[in-house]
Amino acid sequence: MIVKNGLVFIDGAFHRKNIRILNGRIAEIGAMEAEPGESCRDAEGHYLLPGFVDIHIHAFGGADCMRGEADVRQMSRGLLETGVAAFVPTTMSEGTEKTHAALAGIERVCQKPERCGASVLGAHMEAPFLSPQYKGAQRAECLRLPSMEAYREITGDLSCVRMMTIAPELPGALPLIRELREQGVILCAAHSAATAEQVHQAADAGLTQITHLFNAQTPLHHREPGVPGAGLADDRLAVQVIADGIHLHPDVLRIAALCKGSHGMILISDSMEAAGLPEGTYELGGQKVFVSGGAARLENGVLAGSTLLLHQAVKNMICLAGIAPECVIPMATSTPADSIGASEYGRISVGACGVLAEMNPDWEFVTTVCERESL
Ligand SMILES: [Zn+2]
Repeated sequence: MIVKNGLVFIDGAFHRKNIRILNGRIAEIGAMEAEPGESCRDAEGHYLLPGFVDIHIHAFGGADCMRGEADVRQMSRGLLETGVAAFVPTTMSEGTEKTHAALAGIERVCQKPERCGASVLGAHMEAPFLSPQYKGAQRAECLRLPSMEAYREITGDLSCVRMMTIAPELPGALPLIRELREQGVILCAAHSAATAEQVHQAADAGLTQITHLFNAQTPLHHREPGVPGAGLADDRLAVQVIADGIHLHPDVLRIAALCKGSHGMILISDSMEAAGLPEGTYELGGQKVFVSGGAARLENGVLAGSTLLLHQAVKNMICLAGIAPECVIPMATSTPADSIGASEYGRISVGACGVLAEMNPDWEFVTTVCERESL
């Protein structure tokens, strides 16, 4: 298919170009027109962005990756319609067997992807190696001390774990970070009582990201900058941010963006099953969650994931935080993709994934552009 008349985001700037998508990939970028019989979409001057890449997402549209393969497939199909090209389903605190079963479901979708869905790029284990002190919506009784033995007990013969969130101050955390890093797993810190110094030491061991910056971690104090301070100051660390305007004040979104730039900040949804659905009562990790006013909270008021979609995060960064679109777009596309070594996603270039997100001049999402027959 041909997509024409779009303002196409390529290498950090917008260009008036046409795009040919063939066999699910970008085949050509230029001034070519549709050939006889080839389908054509007129983007009418709208922005054409690479499909979004969400590396921290629990659930969407009533489907939760902790419930297994069918739910991961439902997430894959539903997320594609919101402009997401690829995602990393993220587990919650659960017992060993249930976590293993959830990972097995994710692995099966990696191996046999949905024909018309967002790609699954492996699993993100957010639990169980977290601090009970900053558990957030994770269940304390499921948390464990980090060790390779515990990791093997949970994952068994599965190989889909691509990311892990860990509290780096826990005994055993640094050796586990070193070993998993060797195996190609991306390590992130959160649900953590670590000092800034402990975060820098974890970066020495191979930690490369901070999960949901400022949420479920030590606060930034000017004499003890904690997890967020180290995350903002250490150039080896990228920061994942929930830009829904609820988890972080717009000023904080702006501070983080100015500190880290388009290559050091990653927009995540961290969404639970109510994302894409009306407000009401839902579930996350076996706990009741009440969604109202855009916020998802446990009965005790603790935030329990979000209902954010990544295209809304992009709009919020531009319209609420006042960051330039050219700086924001990589945060939801190439930066998360590159951070986990999936650089065939998150960019508009020949050979890259042929899923695009079309947005109007007000930064409202319009549609997902892709060649559905071949997906
Ligand atoms: Zn979390």
